[in-house]
Amino acid sequence: MLNQLHELIYIQVRALIQFNAYLNSDKLVMPDIVTVARKRLTKYLIQKGKYPALGINEWLRYLIEPSEQWLSENDIFDPVSPLWEEGGLSREAEWFLEAYGLPEDFQERPVLKVLSYCREEDEQHGYVLFRSLLTNPDLAVINQKTLTETAGKIVDSFIRKQYLSCYEPFDEWYMYKKCPYCGWSLKKYNGQWRCGRSNVCNEMEGYYLSKWSLQSPDEFDFSSEDQVYRLLSGIHRFILVPGLPENRIYQRLSEKYKVELYPNKDEFDIRIFLENGNLDLDVKCFRQPRHLVGYINHLSDLKREPFQTDEAKFVVPNEYGYASYLKQVNTQISKFRIQVVSENQLFRELGEKEKSI
Ligand SMILES: [Zn+2]
Repeated sequence: MLNQLHELIYIQVRALIQFNAYLNSDKLVMPDIVTVARKRLTKYLIQKGKYPALGINEWLRYLIEPSEQWLSENDIFDPVSPLWEEGGLSREAEWFLEAYGLPEDFQERPVLKVLSYCREEDEQHGYVLFRSLLTNPDLAVINQKTLTETAGKIVDSFIRKQYLSCYEPFDEWYMYKKCPYCGWSLKKYNGQWRCGRSNVCNEMEGYYLSKWSLQSPDEFDFSSEDQVYRLLSGIHRFILVPGLPENRIYQRLSEKYKVELYPNKDEFDIRIFLENGNLDLDVKCFRQPRHLVGYINHLSDLKREPFQTDEAKFVVPNEYGYASYLKQVNTQISKFRIQVVSENQLFRELGEKEKSI
């Protein structure tokens, strides 16, 4: 369950998404949720002795300021981050949504459609193929020919159609460069190349023996006749980038163990078949420990249960989970009897298990 402060922030974020959609559409009627959000924020502000936010202007003025300007001290939202920046959700708001929101709050529609279709149709193979294509850096920005060829590998016509709608035409590709980490498009902003509006890959630089720099990227090598497509920004942010360490862990494991990706239509990220039973992994790529803590805190009992046994584990990839990160998470979730491990710790534990058999 969300507490009051979570709920307050959550409604503001949802309202901002709808407000942005309203601005970019021909609609003249303000979405209802914006009114709800303004009312909720005003109620909260008045209790704090602050100026109300009933009008749209006042409401937006609060949300583009650092959250400490309107939100009381808390361990949920970064005090120096606003909710809204550069015409979109702030990075912190995106992380908040990923930790506390529902998949439909941040996942692109084709991804949600394929997941529910595959669950209904019991289509495991198609699901794994679909996800693997979306997390392949070589397919993040492609020309028409490659897109057609790749889609042709998908046998199921529904999944194939959804896969195609994960891409958008990308005619200005020549003004961009290729991200050395995820393969998506880098745009120059204030003299610096950055990957997506939220620049998630920038934070990966310097971690985990990375030998690349976002500031010395390659050009895309398309020809002027090419019709170019790239993955939708939501897929880049929430599927491709977190999928890269997930794939690496899968590859590392597959060298030694029998493993499966997205077992049971994405119930977990990776399943390892061990001699004395299976071990399911949920790979979590949160930048800040408090987001992972928030995520685990807000899981339903049913979802959390497997992680309280030896049969499932949360794993933080090496590029995310520095030592104090894991310590902080594990201290704060100790009440659940769950242990979150780093990628390296997982391999150590698996090695020890083998020795003891
Ligand atoms: Zn990138």
